[in-house]
Amino acid sequence: MRNGLLIVISGPAGTGKGTVVGKLLEKNPNIKLSISKTTRKPRPGEKEGVNYFFVSREQFEEEIKNERFLEYAEYNNNYYGTPKDFVLESLRKGFDVILEIETKGALKIKKAFSDAVLIFLLPPSLEELHRRLIKRGTESEDEIKTRLEIAKNEIKLVSEYDYCVINDDVDNAVEKIQKIIEVEKLRSKRFDIQSFLEE
Ligand code: 5GP
Repeated sequence: MRNGLLIVISGPAGTGKGTVVGKLLEKNPNIKLSISKTTRKPRPGEKEGVNYFFVSREQFEEEIKNERFLEYAEYNNNYYGTPKDFVLESLRKGFDVILEIETKGALKIKKAFSDAVLIFLLPPSLEELHRRLIKRGTESEDEIKTRLEIAKNEIKLVSEYDYCVINDDVDNAVEKIQKIIEVEKLRSKRFDIQSFLEE
């Protein structure tokens, strides 16, 4: 069986990555989402094993030492990392896997997996991003300011990605990402000539 597609989706906090990815998963049973580990404290309503696996700094550092992560990065004074086993096993079984991660981690994935597809999800504008962060109401004013600064720096890296999609409307963004996945699967570099000839 052919390996699945490794899809990386990044975008500044408040862009609506979670909603877009949620809809993608609903519509495509062949796509699995990698649940990251983080040292960040859960926000109200977040669930262990659904949004993240929440761990201590000590545990995270132990897992770095034991090479349990496909990639990890520090973001806003917390660690975030992609558990290696789940992703590699799902790809091997033929599932497509989405990593919803920030830019440093995404670029590490690009280096290690040249076949990965990197998609940058953008808000319609910085003003709109600011509005969405305030509306979400999960961060303090100071934290919103920090996240907007991080967002500006992240957006500068957009040209390192294969695609960029503006999230002006969730269904629109989901449809565009589905098209990207469809086209990526048709790339000749992914065609398994060996199996084709052996059939
Ligand atoms: P948040 O605290 O808002 O949940 O996440 C902060 C940032 O960390 C977001 O940009 C999110 O996509 C990113 N992130 C979540 N999980 C991972 C991960 O496993 N690795 C990396 N590099 N970034 C992650």
